[in-house]
Amino acid sequence: MSDTTRRTGSCLCGGVHFVVTGQPTRVGLCHCKDCRKASGSAYSAFAIWPRDVFKTSGEVASYGTRSFCPTCGSRVAWVGDTEVEVMLGSLDVAPTDLEPQYELWISRRENWLHALPGTEQFDHDRPDDGPAPEDVAPPAPRPLSDAVMHD
Ligand SMILES: [Zn+2]
Ligand SMILES: [Zn+2]
Repeated sequence: MSDTTRRTGSCLCGGVHFVVTGQPTRVGLCHCKDCRKASGSAYSAFAIWPRDVFKTSGEVASYGTRSFCPTCGSRVAWVGDTEVEVMLGSLDVAPTDLEPQYELWISRRENWLHALPGTEQFDHDRPDDGPAPEDVAPPAPRPLSDAVMHD
């Protein structure tokens, strides 16, 4: 039996609406630089659903993979190939019944925040998420000696 719980969300001005059905795959907090900058807040709280249970209406603008309402600027959802990441604050009912299971980029967590009890703690992204863009080292310069022709 599939879970038919529906949760609705929207931006501040109401121009963008969305619906997610069923329980999220996972719920997390992220303290990374991108989440801080993009939200203007100390961290972001989000939930991930499979993309096929997400429906949206209204126009969104985007910057990289992040989408937002072009009128009010509210962050809405990030839509990936297989998953969609919804900001908890964009859901219409508060408080939600969703609780984070993990925290990312805890080295960037504000000093006045503490590890959320019972959650998995990660220094960077979750290992199976692949490296974050800011975590990818530029290709190492080729050692000069490699370029020297030896004979
Ligand atoms: Zn809006
Ligand atoms: Zn982040």
